[in-house]
Amino acid sequence: LLSPAGELAPTIFAEITAAAVRHDAVNLGQGFPDEDGPPEVLDAAIAAIRDGVNQYPAGRGMPVLREAVSDHQHRFYGIDVDPEREILVTAGATEALTAALLALLDGPDDEVVVFEPYYDSYAAAVALAGARLVPVPLRWPSLEPDVDELRAAVRDRTRIILVNDPHNPTGTVFSNEVRDEIVRLAERHDALIVTDEVYEHLVMDADHVPLATLPGAAERTLTISSGGKTFRTTGWKVGWVSGPADLVDAVLAVKQYLTYVNGAPFQPAIAVGLGLPDTFFDDLAATQRERRDLLGAGLRDAGFEVSTPAGSYFTVADVRSMLAPGEDAAAFCRALPERVGVAAIPLTAFATPEHRDRYETLVRFAACKRTDVIAEAARRLAASA
Ligand code: PMP
Ligand code: GLN
Repeated sequence: LLSPAGELAPTIFAEITAAAVRHDAVNLGQGFPDEDGPPEVLDAAIAAIRDGVNQYPAGRGMPVLREAVSDHQHRFYGIDVDPEREILVTAGATEALTAALLALLDGPDDEVVVFEPYYDSYAAAVALAGARLVPVPLRWPSLEPDVDELRAAVRDRTRIILVNDPHNPTGTVFSNEVRDEIVRLAERHDALIVTDEVYEHLVMDADHVPLATLPGAAERTLTISSGGKTFRTTGWKVGWVSGPADLVDAVLAVKQYLTYVNGAPFQPAIAVGLGLPDTFFDDLAATQRERRDLLGAGLRDAGFEVSTPAGSYFTVADVRSMLAPGEDAAAFCRALPERVGVAAIPLTAFATPEHRDRYETLVRFAACKRTDVIAEAARRLAASA
């Protein structure tokens, strides 16, 4: 199997969540909510099951969901996407991403520029496609990309610039300057843009700006999102990809042989979610802001230097004050569930092996949990500081 740098090793999320369960730790590792999403969405799935929406849905996804995705993009971003030809429903954002990379990459001569640290499935999917990953670092403590390093990474062999905004694991929301530069570089080198915007409604201090809304971007951009984060339904795995019809057709060509179709009764339920009133989406971001601030204060009390993320579920902390001599963040996170009763993910899990030393003291904590849960994690960390 193609996995030169161990991209297909067991995912860090399985390892850390198993340790959290074993030691009854507060799980601020894996990014999944500990509360249910909106009752309208849950009830719609139950009703769909009872109404017999239980067989294979249409290959591109159920029309009701594709129309809801199209309406949502128009309502929030003023983007017009044709639900017939420019949207494909996938088994979560994960499948959209893997299918897109498998569809668009042509082997070892193709390069994919990715901001590092990156969500772990990115490196796995690039490896499965047999292409080369070219990382652009987000350096501590700003966790912003350096535009010169971005320029140096993109060249004619770049087939895809893979973006994740808001960004996992750092919580970074890209600046307009960086977004513009991504589009200009893609144009100059005739690259495609694949942008993973699953945290589009978890931007705390501003409005989300989809990359596809920038001048010149739409015709070369595939935008990926998912219902998991927005509606607290990460186990449903309903995602979608939108963009130019020929690119979406290419993703469908792969998707049909990965899963064929997915999630019949959950598709109309996510459609209901996408049509919820503005107050739902505003509350989601406001709740996340509160949780981010609570977690940030708790991590500071434990003696860590802490980032203030503008988006996503995640906060990064430099835990060097709590490391034993010779210990790095990976060893620290493996021991943390038993030692302190808290689980978290080392940033080294999101970097290529040769860059792991850049992230050696950095840990990602997830703030998508109830406030009492975050407060308990903070209490445990402060007690052992
Ligand atoms: N991309 C990013 C950046 C994520 O954080 C996640 C969630 N873990 C995914 C993709 C996967 O989304 P889904 O569960 O919809 O496949
Ligand atoms: N996206 C979530 C995270 O980053 C869950 C990932 C997973 O379990 N694969 O924590």
